[in-house]
Amino acid sequence: MDIIAFFSRNFIVPFWAKYEHSDYLRYYHQMLKTQYDSLDVIISRQTSKMREIVSHAYNTCNFWRERFDSLNLKPDDIRELQDLRKLPILTKVDLRTRLDDMISSSYSDLSKLTLFTTSGSTGVSVKVYADDACTQIKRGAILRSDEWTGWRQGERIAAIWGNPKHRKDFFGIMRNLFLERYYAFLDTLKMDEHSMEEFTKQLLRYPPSMLFGHAHSLYLYAKFLRAKFPDVKIKPHGILSTCMVLHDFERRLISEVFDCRVTNRYGCEEVSLIASDCECGEGLHTNTDTLYIELVNQLGEPVKTGEPGAVVVTDLCNKAMPMIRYNVGDTAIWADRKCSCGRTLPLFERIEGRVADYVVTEQGEYISGISLTENFACMVDDIIQLQIVQEDVNRFTFNIVKAPNFGEKTVNQIRNLVQQRFGNNATFDCVFMEKIPMEKSGKYRFCISKVKKDF
Ligand SMILES: [Zn+2]
Repeated sequence: MDIIAFFSRNFIVPFWAKYEHSDYLRYYHQMLKTQYDSLDVIISRQTSKMREIVSHAYNTCNFWRERFDSLNLKPDDIRELQDLRKLPILTKVDLRTRLDDMISSSYSDLSKLTLFTTSGSTGVSVKVYADDACTQIKRGAILRSDEWTGWRQGERIAAIWGNPKHRKDFFGIMRNLFLERYYAFLDTLKMDEHSMEEFTKQLLRYPPSMLFGHAHSLYLYAKFLRAKFPDVKIKPHGILSTCMVLHDFERRLISEVFDCRVTNRYGCEEVSLIASDCECGEGLHTNTDTLYIELVNQLGEPVKTGEPGAVVVTDLCNKAMPMIRYNVGDTAIWADRKCSCGRTLPLFERIEGRVADYVVTEQGEYISGISLTENFACMVDDIIQLQIVQEDVNRFTFNIVKAPNFGEKTVNQIRNLVQQRFGNNATFDCVFMEKIPMEKSGKYRFCISKVKKDF
């Protein structure tokens, strides 16, 4: 038994929260109960928080007052959640060009706010400021969903991450050891054999309770372990995959190698946690405690269950910079069922990835990047890594890391699939590389479409 975990969870963590004047543990305990509330109760709570945010936004933000006035709307016109549809979608361009006007006049001292910046991997980098109460509620929500992995707060975490913030000073080391419990890092920006071997030694010396990382980096590490150390047994209580779409084939391999279920978590810097698998893995529970989530089509109307829609969120907590109907830039699908865990938080069937990762065919059909890469990865032999880039409607580039037996047969498989998926007019080039380049954030993208989308 990890004695430090016991002390960390029961003494150090609560003491530190008090020292920091942080309420996140109180929110966490509240949310352990609210996750079983009836849907009516959840909706009524979201409605009252939404009304508060809408009225606050109108009264204290130039941007929102202008937006409401231009539509001849008053906050009282938005009483129910579906009334939000009277407002247009908030875009990344709005955030980038109107940032100052979006910050509430009640929170004009920016030094007291937390700044979140996206990496700009979709082409537009944005900043969002959040007030302290909002940040703490979201910390509570993240802790609740992290524990769905099987890990408990206070237990050791090993991370596979880009640019890990691993402080090397005494205070930082103590904090990592006793409070946050991150003790082993594999930097995804330099994942070579040597660093993976060192990481493995650390995990064998001190087994992690949770293995945490980008989906594809977890997959690459699992592949490395299987090839190099097939007899090594590292079995955490939970594996948390985040920040990227988790392909089924990746999930299967990670789960086999570590003999552990993989929990998929979805969120973004701007609004934090959006949805996460629970221990039953029957879909991703949406985070209704801090968000109101819509899935919409190109016209901004709600999509039916089972159909992909753009993820549009209204942040129910952030008063420093109200975010109403913000288009995150991803697509997801609603599931129409209850999870057997008993939690009532509505489920996403799956996350389909970014809108920018959708390929558009000549006929105007949208093909999800996740299905494409899944399909190509399973149907094409002798490829270690593959990235599909749609340069133009009928022109594709395949960036390929070859396996030893790669040859004419593989190229023919790709040709057949291209014709099946994109039609006879589609052309493609293969570009061979040592490895697929990562985004600045240390994440991978396997399908990039440069064709302009309507949504
Ligand atoms: Zn569940």
